[in-house]
Amino acid sequence: MALSGLAQRVVVVAGATGGIGRAISELYVREGCKVALLGRTEKTLVELQSHLLELANKEHAENDKQLSAVYVATCDVTDSPSVKKAVTDIIANIGAPDILVNAAGVAEDGLLLRSSDKSIQNNINTNLIGPMVTSRAVLPPMLRKGGCIINIGSVVGTHGNVGQCAYSAAKAGLVGFTKSLSKEVGSRGIRVNLINPGYIETPMTAHIPQEKIDKIIQNTTLGRLGTTDDIVQAVRFVSTCTFITGQVLHVDGGLVL
Ligand code: NDP
Repeated sequence: MALSGLAQRVVVVAGATGGIGRAISELYVREGCKVALLGRTEKTLVELQSHLLELANKEHAENDKQLSAVYVATCDVTDSPSVKKAVTDIIANIGAPDILVNAAGVAEDGLLLRSSDKSIQNNINTNLIGPMVTSRAVLPPMLRKGGCIINIGSVVGTHGNVGQCAYSAAKAGLVGFTKSLSKEVGSRGIRVNLINPGYIETPMTAHIPQEKIDKIIQNTTLGRLGTTDDIVQAVRFVSTCTFITGQVLHVDGGLVL
């Protein structure tokens, strides 16, 4: 089945409470999807759920769209059994996933020489193994009806960055993962793509010193940082463009030309 219209699709957003994940969750709620929010912190997920239900009510009243369902599934993407349980609960409550967006991530930065084993492992486990674990969990029902998996990587995965050896290695791994999985499941109508953001204004980048931000802006062809809306537009495009798979889409204002 080729996935095109979004209304009533079941969408799983891993890392839903993050800057990018929240904006992506809002997109799918606006489109009338049934959205499952994945993250580690139940309280933040429940707060987001009530914000999204308000948004859904508003959209419904204004556009006469079908009301979205918003479901909370607490899990840690580095813990395979908790992901498996979350996906089982999602299927039982709102249906089998049509779309998975892997937007959970951590950036534990530092020069390699000073990085601990723990921080290297956390970067790799969360940013690379996490998307594999969540994808594997949603695949069985998707194999029957088709679907779409969108991984959120980073421009540093293709270009590298000082202080981000483990993070950029994990994001580089997503390129191989995305292309390989797209080849494994394409015949079942499942598309797998990778969106590589540049610097986007979210809590993840809030700690970057202003001088460094100024330098990033100077090096960006479009002369600004990205917004979560820039990523949302790309996610919408990849969700609905039914002949795209195995691709890496840079959404970075021309930072890494
Ligand atoms: P945030 O730090 O704002 O959000 C990260 C999200 O990931 C949170 O919802 C967090 O929720 C969740 N998360 C972290 N670890 C786990 C885990 N083990 N299990 C489940 N959920 C987890 O990041 P952004 O929204 O900015 O980033 C989203 C994605 O985009 C990441 O993959 C990031 O690497 C990528 N990216 C971001 C860029 C930017 O400039 N912001 C640039 C390039 C790429 P909780 O802690 O509650 O579990």
